[in-house]
Amino acid sequence: MIIDRDEIDSMEVLKFGVSSLASAEAMQRVRDVLVARRTKQRIVVCSAMGGVTNSIISLGLKAANGDAGYAEDLEALRRRHIQTLDDLQIEEAAEVRQELQDRFDRLESLCKGVCLLEELSAKSMDQLVSFGERLAVPIVCAWLEKAGLQVRRVDARDWIVTCDQYGAAEVHQSETFERIRKGVDADNSFETLITEGFIGRTPTGETTTLGRGGSDYTASLIASAVQADFLEKSTDVPGLLTADP
Ligand code: ASP
Ligand code: MG
Repeated sequence: MIIDRDEIDSMEVLKFGVSSLASAEAMQRVRDVLVARRTKQRIVVCSAMGGVTNSIISLGLKAANGDAGYAEDLEALRRRHIQTLDDLQIEEAAEVRQELQDRFDRLESLCKGVCLLEELSAKSMDQLVSFGERLAVPIVCAWLEKAGLQVRRVDARDWIVTCDQYGAAEVHQSETFERIRKGVDADNSFETLITEGFIGRTPTGETTTLGRGGSDYTASLIASAVQADFLEKSTDVPGLLTADP
């Protein structure tokens, strides 16, 4: 569906947190929220599915201890993501399934390297945990497309520029704002734009994270950059909180 810009009464930024993405059931509520308000153009910031960031951290630490048991935990994560896809009955799933598979393969290679070296730097840990969000976004995207929404996807690392303080990287705000604004304007016909929370990239191309819970921060950066009418953030309790960005 092509949006007539005159019909859009506002731009909003919505952040869906871990609990909104915890299961297929929770994701059905996400879809309902978005479908109910189609006249608004919005940017959706996703965090990882519930518990995934913690799981990646602990399997990474396991690998760093030379414990090959990380592979089982990784397999459980893979099954959980694929199961969510199945539960959502996404018909066009072949492509997104392949994409998830590719990402899991990459994550597995990284973990293998960590396990062989028995070494896990903060920089490598950021690469590992970035997969939490990067595995959630393809699923949410396919899910919203299935619901008939026109979705544009952006890799948050193309927008969020940070220093190299891995694990708690500081955002270079003016460059980030500029990239967000240019990025939105480059193709402004979207109905829903989806991107990852929590992750960024250094000017030299290394993946970083903004600190635990950092998706909220990503959402507020985007809301400020585009001067959104409001920022809405899902919480662990049923319902939505709103705040003026
Ligand atoms: N997934 C990250 C975390 O668990 C970021 C977030 O959820 O906001 O900390
Ligand atoms: Mg959070």
